[in-house]
Amino acid sequence: MSKTIAAISTGAAAGGIGVIRISGDDAVKIASRVFLPLDKSSLAELGGYRAKYGNIIIDGEKADNAVALVFRAPKSYTGEDVVELSVHGGLLMVKNTLEAVLKNGARPAEAGEFTKRAFLNGKVDLTQAEAVAEIISAQGEQSLKASYNALQGALSKRINGVLEEMLDMSAFMAAWVDYPDEEIPELSENEVREKLTKCKDALYSLLSDYENGQTVTKGITTAIVGKPNVGKSSLMNMLTGTDKSIVTHIEGTTRDVVEEDVKLGGLVLHLRDTAGLRSSDDLVETIGIEKAYRALDDAQLVLAVFDSSQELSEYDFNLIEKCSEKRAIAVINKSDLESRLNEEAVKSAFEKTVYVSAVNGTGKDELSNAVEELLGVADFDSSAPMLANARQKQNCESAYSSICEALEALEDGMTFDAINVMIDSAADELLSLTGKKATSEVVNNIFSKFCVGK
Ligand code: GDP
Repeated sequence: MSKTIAAISTGAAAGGIGVIRISGDDAVKIASRVFLPLDKSSLAELGGYRAKYGNIIIDGEKADNAVALVFRAPKSYTGEDVVELSVHGGLLMVKNTLEAVLKNGARPAEAGEFTKRAFLNGKVDLTQAEAVAEIISAQGEQSLKASYNALQGALSKRINGVLEEMLDMSAFMAAWVDYPDEEIPELSENEVREKLTKCKDALYSLLSDYENGQTVTKGITTAIVGKPNVGKSSLMNMLTGTDKSIVTHIEGTTRDVVEEDVKLGGLVLHLRDTAGLRSSDDLVETIGIEKAYRALDDAQLVLAVFDSSQELSEYDFNLIEKCSEKRAIAVINKSDLESRLNEEAVKSAFEKTVYVSAVNGTGKDELSNAVEELLGVADFDSSAPMLANARQKQNCESAYSSICEALEALEDGMTFDAINVMIDSAADELLSLTGKKATSEVVNNIFSKFCVGK
């Protein structure tokens, strides 16, 4: 019997409606102490997927109009009895209702505890639970699509397919080794090789898509660099749609690094608008410039900005040089002005060059296409199964190397029971990936990163 838990499941801001979620064996009993249906019926009699309109009762007084939605185990998010009370979404009302629920027998839910219970009750596996957290934190369309597909079990299905193949093989080999006298048809070396290679290829394909998947779902650290006054801040403002960076005619006004996340096409860029790359005697400015260089070094993508209306200067050449080892796009800004720039010199130094006018807001789509093409994610299919995080990747990598070892052992003519040890260890990694065999430490670590109420 699990203790009944409760938490506010809606955001920590005032809204039209706020939801208090209660889950556990006593969920309905506790809810019926704080919620009275208008028709005076008993909530305890209510079946699953049923709702009642009524009042929240706090200290014997009617406190709000509300709706109680009842789910009956096992057909609920957590797999337990669940009641969701929808009250008016003023923060105080929601908080008071939760307090009343807690006073009547529930305990406050820990971070991610509803989803943890869903996992422990077999409603979702670990990859699906992690997908819930990803959906909540998703910033871009691709990320949302990928997490939704993971929630539907796209990755689980792919992993379980490989796992089934391996467990079959393992059981067969074990039987053959353990009962040599029985009439168990021998699994030929060729069949083992074929099956192992199939599993290896499936894992390899997941691993090789990992980096692109991360770019598409988590976004990419992007530095906007260029000499003072080329329009870095204006470009940042064009991309963010706000006036976050200060735009002025005086050189060196972007003293520090301004950071902002922006959506560009289906991607999210973690943008850093940096101080101009030049030497300076001003101490504050110098600190800004150092940060700019660091931002450029740390960035996964660089947008190197040039002023179309000016000839290339020493600084520009310096920047071109600095960008030569980075994934960088040349952004020729002020394309609305008469061109004085040696465009060919810029174009030949960068894989991609885009013309924009930050003040007129033109060139955004071209920039978006150039970024996707340069990163190799233009045709990325975010609905395909993909590894969502370092934990999943680590399990997948270990399983992959155990399968490679098993294949080598096969080539070296080792016995089936020796090969089976490697197959079992690969299977263990995959079982831990989906959570069927994950340690409680791993499980607790995953759910501790969730928000309360999820
Ligand atoms: P930063 O020092 O590189 O951040 O440059 P700013 O964004 O502060 O821009 C410097 C000046 O260039 C400002 O006066 C902007 O209005 C102007 N500017 C920026 N982008 C454009 C553009 O696309 N066209 C024109 N004509 N002027 C621009």
